[in-house]
Amino acid sequence: MRAAAERVIVGQLETTMPKLICLCGYVHRLGEIPDAGWVAVLDRDYEELVAAELALPHGRRPLAEEDDPHLATVSRITTRLYECAACGLLAWFRDDGDIPEFFRPLRDKK
Ligand SMILES: [Zn+2]
Repeated sequence: MRAAAERVIVGQLETTMPKLICLCGYVHRLGEIPDAGWVAVLDRDYEELVAAELALPHGRRPLAEEDDPHLATVSRITTRLYECAACGLLAWFRDDGDIPEFFRPLRDKK
C-alpha cells in the first residue's frame, strides 16, 4: 500500500558523489559501488536480467551504459530502492529517472 508518495528532488553534491536526501533529512550516499541500496526487477524481466549480467565483460565491468549494451539492458530493466537507516522510509527510483517516490512501511509509526 502506498502510504507516502511525495516527490523530492535528489540532491546533487558539493562533491561528485551523488546523494539522496530522505524526507527526514538522512543522507544516503549513492556514489559507492556497490552502495547500500536494493536492486529490483520485475519477475517477467528476470531472465533478461540474468542473460545481460552473464554477457557483461568479465574482470572489468563497464561503468557507463554507453560503454556496453548489456549494462544498458541491466539499467533499463532494474530499479533502485533505498531504505532510510534513520526513519525506515523507502525511496524508490521507479521511473528511470533521478526523482524517487517515497513509501513509509505501515508497521512504521515514526
Ligand atoms: Zn528518513
